[in-house]
Amino acid sequence: MPNPRHFDTLILGQGLAGSALAWHLIDAGQRVCVIDDHHATSSSRVAAGLINPLAGMRFTRRPELNDCLSAADNWYGRLAAEFNQTLFHPRPMLRLFRSPDQRRFHNRLLEDPAATELLGDEFAPGDCPEPVAAPHGGFIQHRTGHIDLPLLLDLVRNWLRDRDAMVECAIDYAQIESNANGVKLRDLSAERLVFCDGARLHDNPWFNYLPLARGKGEILKLRIDGWKPQHIINGAHWLVPQPDGKLRFGATHEHQQIDHETTDTGRKVLLAGLATLLGRQTDIVVTEQQAGVRPGTRDRHPLLGQHPEHPPLWVCNGFGARGSLIIPWYARRLSEHLLQAKPLPSEADIRRFDRCDVL
Ligand SMILES: Cc1cc2nc3c(=O)[nH]c(=O)nc-3n(C[C@H](O)[C@H](O)[C@H](O)COP(=O)(O)OP(=O)(O)OC[C@H]3O[C@@H](n4cnc5c(N)ncnc54)[C@H](O)[C@@H]3O)c2cc1C
Repeated sequence: MPNPRHFDTLILGQGLAGSALAWHLIDAGQRVCVIDDHHATSSSRVAAGLINPLAGMRFTRRPELNDCLSAADNWYGRLAAEFNQTLFHPRPMLRLFRSPDQRRFHNRLLEDPAATELLGDEFAPGDCPEPVAAPHGGFIQHRTGHIDLPLLLDLVRNWLRDRDAMVECAIDYAQIESNANGVKLRDLSAERLVFCDGARLHDNPWFNYLPLARGKGEILKLRIDGWKPQHIINGAHWLVPQPDGKLRFGATHEHQQIDHETTDTGRKVLLAGLATLLGRQTDIVVTEQQAGVRPGTRDRHPLLGQHPEHPPLWVCNGFGARGSLIIPWYARRLSEHLLQAKPLPSEADIRRFDRCDVL
């Protein structure tokens, strides 16, 4: 058996989280190796990559939003410059009110000076800027767009390969040995291993005590000839115009049957949602259907930190349906914690869960 190759940090998973963490650590001079099974279960490869600063039905503006937006601008901008590629596609978003009641959450935002830069014009039901059904009206939202995640993952993977910092294979958790000196995994050893394994954290014997809330999602890629929306449209579903003229439409939310298979039911639900949105007979050509699993958490905050009994083992996960916006910020905070002992953001630190309470 040859001597193991030694690194400072091993990262299991090259989704968006593993990619961002690897980038920050390598940028700071660390010896890093990322292991991934060709994105076999990657949620990042399936995601639409939407950046949406006002989350959910209540248009919630979270306290950490400005930090997340500026970290996202910074990191995606640095990658775009390094690789000379466009990764972020800015585009305003139409938020369609789903009921008359939802208008009051918008009214509340109007009173918040910190939200001003995110809010554009409001529109009445008959006055929607795109030819879609908007029975309760809505408003235009700014600082929105989408990240081309498949391109980003390919670019970062090649960048890691060039540095001899990428191993492409599936890892059985039983292959990982952790002791006082660090971790060993096949012919690799390191001081620590960070799990960026997405929804497979559910099967991770060290961290599956954390309250993960997985959500399967299906998404369509399609063409509607003769229509080029100028906005992302976000109501009961979202529709994201792509640079090639196609549209991505999603997503379903399934919390019982968790797997990576596309289904006829998922397709029917999405096509019915699209018909309601369009409010008219339209020829639609579906070119692709994909499924993935969102690595959500019950309290809707990420999972960052060190295993309470196995110090070489760490986790960087739980980014739910918002990874594109929040991963750049939280990955940077974890790298600063590992290298400079800066505190982790308390809302994401896994020490908020007492292991006994959640078991
Ligand atoms: C349908 C759908 C639409 C979405 N749309 C959006 C959106 O518009 N905007 C947004 O911000 N988020 C969206 N998301 C959520 C987004 O995908 C996640 O927030 C984010 O991508 C999670 O990234 P991650 O790196 O934590 O996990 P993943 O991307 O799942 O990465 C984990 C990686 O680890 C690998 N791996 C795991 N275990 C092993 C092992 N044992 N051995 C080897 N490799 C392993 C996996 O194959 C994978 O490549 C969507 C998700 C879905 C399913």
